[in-house]
Amino acid sequence: MRFIDSHCHIDGPEYDADRDDVIARAHDAGVEMMLNVGTGDPLSGAFERALGLAEKHEGIYAALGVHPHDARLFDDRAEQHLAALVRQSKRVVAWGEIGLDYHYDNSPRDVQREVFRRQLRLAREMELPVVIHSREADDDTIAILNESGAGVPPVNHAQDARATKSGVLHCFGGSLAMAQSAIDLGFFISFAGNLTFKKAEDLRDVARQLPLERLLIETDCPYLTPVPFRGKRNEPARVVETARCLAELHGKEWEEIGRVTSENFCGLFGVR
Ligand SMILES: [Zn+2]
Ligand SMILES: [Zn+2]
Repeated sequence: MRFIDSHCHIDGPEYDADRDDVIARAHDAGVEMMLNVGTGDPLSGAFERALGLAEKHEGIYAALGVHPHDARLFDDRAEQHLAALVRQSKRVVAWGEIGLDYHYDNSPRDVQREVFRRQLRLAREMELPVVIHSREADDDTIAILNESGAGVPPVNHAQDARATKSGVLHCFGGSLAMAQSAIDLGFFISFAGNLTFKKAEDLRDVARQLPLERLLIETDCPYLTPVPFRGKRNEPARVVETARCLAELHGKEWEEIGRVTSENFCGLFGVR
């Protein structure tokens, strides 16, 4: 059995006490790969920490980028620092998470938009797919992706007719129209544990209507622990619950969901 957690944060202090156990449990559950996304103040050492984890474990890759919450901390120095980290390691397979968060507004919206545009340009220069975070900002997110030319084709998809894929909208919680606009731009849609929540009927309705060839699964752990584990700390092994939910929605076996979403992941991020 094979699953990939396309978005997790296990480099953080929440896992300092038992990180190796968490990784072992993921493997036991059939989760063979994870994309660990570094976030935080770009000059705090947080990104070195995320990268270090990916250097240490074969099945863990890293994404580096400044989260919209921290957009106010992104300046020339931060940019140079991050770009140098990305250049020095083959373990970085994506730029992100970047985007817009109008729910928390931790950084001013005009700053978020400017930093989002700037990082999209950087990702393009470095030929990396992007991991997009969008919360209550769907129209602006799509508009900016549209004007940016939406990244670059993935490395090993030269023969794919749909070779405009350029990133993923992670922890998707938007409308069907938003998902379809993103797919039209060549993006993938990733669902997290909130797909399993009792009140998420609208989101499940969206997931049911999207083509499996454009979907990924993730935990976004330590957040969004899926049913039936809600209330506990989340971890990559739980990504199988999201696969189980998607399987029901699409009338497939969950192994099939694991296989297709893993292929999608490998194609997008250029890993095997
Ligand atoms: Zn996010
Ligand atoms: Zn995240």
